[in-house]
Amino acid sequence: MSESFDVDLFVIGGGSGGVRAARIAAGYGARVKLAEEYRVGGTCVIRGCVPKKLMVYAGRFADEIEDAAGFGWNVPEPRFDWSVLKRRRDAEIARLEGIYDTNLMRAGVEIVPERAVIEDAHTVRLVGSGERIRARFILVAVGASPVKEPVIPGANLAITSNEVFDLETQPERILVVGGGYIAVEFAGVFAALGTRTTLLHRGDRLLRGFDDEIRDALGEAYAKRMDLRLGRTVESLERREGGITARLSDGAEIEVDQVLVATGRRPNVAGLGLDRVGIALDRAGAIPVDATSRTTVPSIYAVGDVTNRANLTPIAIREGHAFADTVFGNKTWCVDHRLIPTAVFSTPEIGVVGHNEDVAREIYGAVEVYKAIFRPMKATLSGRDEKVLMKVVVDCASDKVVGVHLFGHDAGEIIQAVGIAVTMGATKADFDRTIAVHPTASEELVTMR
Ligand code: NDP
Repeated sequence: MSESFDVDLFVIGGGSGGVRAARIAAGYGARVKLAEEYRVGGTCVIRGCVPKKLMVYAGRFADEIEDAAGFGWNVPEPRFDWSVLKRRRDAEIARLEGIYDTNLMRAGVEIVPERAVIEDAHTVRLVGSGERIRARFILVAVGASPVKEPVIPGANLAITSNEVFDLETQPERILVVGGGYIAVEFAGVFAALGTRTTLLHRGDRLLRGFDDEIRDALGEAYAKRMDLRLGRTVESLERREGGITARLSDGAEIEVDQVLVATGRRPNVAGLGLDRVGIALDRAGAIPVDATSRTTVPSIYAVGDVTNRANLTPIAIREGHAFADTVFGNKTWCVDHRLIPTAVFSTPEIGVVGHNEDVAREIYGAVEVYKAIFRPMKATLSGRDEKVLMKVVVDCASDKVVGVHLFGHDAGEIIQAVGIAVTMGATKADFDRTIAVHPTASEELVTMR
């Protein structure tokens, strides 16, 4: 590679996408520096998927303990200690951060622990030291941050999913605002841990874009677990003696200890210097890229949430990997964003791959929908009032399974395996000739007729 550059690749952002790209590129012999202004690991490891999932696990013990009675266990009144969970969770995150650091260093990537901005098509400037580094390629992998919408009086009293991990004490009462992944997951966690939880969403159903029956099933389950208020917004927040008072659009007032706003995320592009190189943002404020993650400037690429394609960790990782293979490994490939298995870690969980019924109908015309609604076997003895819902959407013309939608325990685990079959183009006949694993919940997927 040309000697007129200090490095072959300068990565801005040490999250999932940036780290993968840096390691793979270094593996091809590229000289790589990676700037991270906060903690290596990014949203997923430090303040997203990983600590969130640990909290989901924590919450689910409440159900397990309750359910155990029906199986003969006499469990003394359980008590949850937030400070123990926080301490142990934070230690685990620090351990993972260390692994990320080590892996980068072992790969030969130099970590620059400060903010970097773009000066020109081949130059980044480190904001702290003022140092300028010339790079053959620049990869922007700076992610996104939570936004508080709409802007209301007292909005500063609310926290976002960034600060939720810093709470030193468990709120007795919380208001969660939003109806997307983050609101749904955190409302579920807090309710399970014993916080009196209100989930408030402007729409009439949670999780827009998901299968309507799955959304209804989640709404039903959540209404039993928390105070679910749909079709409403928050108009103002005010600190009063005893807590924060939220005034709602229906005139109601509720008093809580914390307000968690989860109304979406926006790409972290402010002050990055994109205007200096002529990169214009799209309407969502994201960096437009082509299928190989290249921006309109040939030496600058972007991956992950900052490009707002599918804002999921595994996608950012794959985009980073494809970029490094393509640019440094002489192996050109592009990430297929069409078929993405995903899970929402609500309790019960949601797992999805492919299209919902309505979208499938728009794309394929005639579709057949197979459905199973049943009480999970465990609930027969635990007595838990819970149902499992499974839907398989099939394109009539080709018999291909084009969508699978699961609601119930372990849906995230199940959908990963189903995702392989759907990605391979499995037909309903393939599902049908698969022998059931009995007794499981997922056997329903191969016994629907
Ligand atoms: P989402 O975009 O998924 O959801 C935002 C929610 O906020 C929607 O319910 C939206 O309502 C609502 N909202 C938006 N603007 C307003 C407003 N002005 N007033 C009231 N409500 C508003 O964002 P999240 O923050 O939940 O998550 C961001 C992304 O992070 C997700 O899209 C997902 O890709 C990723 N993620 C994935 C996880 C996983 O894989 N398990 C977990 C967590 C995050 P409406 O539907 O009406 O627009």
